Amino acid sequence: MMDYEPVIGLEVHVQLATKSKLFCGCSTEFGSEPNRNTCPVCFGWPGSLPVLNEQALRFAVKVGLALNCRVSDRIQFDRKNYFYPDLPKAYQISQFEMPINGKGWVFIDIPGANGSVEPQKVGITRAHLEEDAGKLLHEGIKDGSLVDYNRAGIPLLEIVSEPDLRSPEAAYEYLVTLKSILEYLEVSDCNMEEGSLRCDANVSVRPRGETKLGTKVEIKNLNSFKAVQKALQYEIERQSDMLENRERIVQETRLWSEGKGQTFSMRSKEEAHDYRYFPEPDLVPFTVSAPLIEEIRKTIPELPEARARRVMRDFGLSEYDAHVLVQDKKLADYFEACVREKVNPKLVSNWIQSELLALVHQARIGVEECPVQPAGLAGLIRLIENNTISGKIAKDVLPEMFATGKSAEAIVNEKRLVQMTDTKLIEEVARRVIEANAKVVQEFRSGKQQALGFLVGQVMKETKGKANPKLANEILVKLLKAS
Ligand code: ADP
Ligand code: ZN
Ligand code: MG
Repeated sequence: MMDYEPVIGLEVHVQLATKSKLFCGCSTEFGSEPNRNTCPVCFGWPGSLPVLNEQALRFAVKVGLALNCRVSDRIQFDRKNYFYPDLPKAYQISQFEMPINGKGWVFIDIPGANGSVEPQKVGITRAHLEEDAGKLLHEGIKDGSLVDYNRAGIPLLEIVSEPDLRSPEAAYEYLVTLKSILEYLEVSDCNMEEGSLRCDANVSVRPRGETKLGTKVEIKNLNSFKAVQKALQYEIERQSDMLENRERIVQETRLWSEGKGQTFSMRSKEEAHDYRYFPEPDLVPFTVSAPLIEEIRKTIPELPEARARRVMRDFGLSEYDAHVLVQDKKLADYFEACVREKVNPKLVSNWIQSELLALVHQARIGVEECPVQPAGLAGLIRLIENNTISGKIAKDVLPEMFATGKSAEAIVNEKRLVQMTDTKLIEEVARRVIEANAKVVQEFRSGKQQALGFLVGQVMKETKGKANPKLANEILVKLLKAS
């Protein structure tokens, strides 16, 4: 089979976190009673007029600046016409000719060989404002369908990427990076389950070395970043097989079926809509002043990429650790709060990434709701640092802290978990272990290093994990060499 190169471009719809809709005062609250959050503007009734939500405009500019876009100073909207029951006005107010954000770019980290990460620049084509449509409900309804217009008119920012992505993994990484930036900007809650982040994926393949783009297919109905990755994998294989068999790929929209793990044709290009775009006559074009853009620029916080560099520089973390920690703003905040308690940053990073995150994920909560707050984790780590308890004991103490909300110190005192640093006591146990494991001792003497690890393990077991492992190790070596 020939070597085919995938070419991918993504269209991401982000719901902007405003309290009211894009062109009226209706609430954007999720989960309200169907059609409660609607008004004559939502429905385009005669006599009603849309008014642009200033907060949505500010959020859109904020994202544009963060994505290095050329921000247009002229704001104009267009009508995108199509007839479908989820669209009460039979047109969507969008931006066609003059998007608020023009060309920009974002850096993503592509995982390379042996744990390295390689930065890649992905072009942003545009990021424009538009209103959302309503939601049709078909399930469990006998005669016909129901429609809920609560979502109609909610502000969206459509972020379109250049066809710069070259693998499903890169597409996944792009989405993770974009989400992370949007969360840092606090412009969206980015909740995929509630539909505040949605993605359509465009993909084509071409023989490697070819410079012309192949015919693309657009995939819809992608409900998670993993679904995007899986659908792209499937589609790349399907298209490669077709080219290999000299079949012609048709430009079309396909739907991803998570259950079947396949894409299915939805409509071909011939059936594609002609949207008859024209300038929205009810919203006159206007200019965004340069001072306003500068005011918005000042509200942009330190973004993940810069934060990762700072965390590496200030705390000596590896590129990988820094990358994992900064991706989630709340996790990075937790980490920095912990380090402010003057405990070893590398230890903090390890404890957060292994033990703490496991507990947090298990409990299905965010790290900010964790019963063990940064000062609490720092308290536990301090007990390890000053040899009060071993790391092994600490692994039992943390879940207890998580369950009871008690401090590490309180639990260690209550349960008498203080580490054994009494050389005599450890020596006694070590002698017993050596006696009971003659065979392993022999293996150690004949040069098998792992045998020592086993013996240390036995001492730890005998002392119920309370022996200082470093001491146990030293004492065993001393005894073994002496006898
Ligand atoms: P359409 O007119 O069908 O909406 P656009 O040119 O607006 O297509 O592009 C939509 C998305 O598809 C963009 O993210 C773009 O990067 C991507 N795209 C365009 N052409 C290709 C291609 N040949 N292969 C893969 N992706 C593509
Ligand atoms: Zn309304
Ligand atoms: Mg398009």
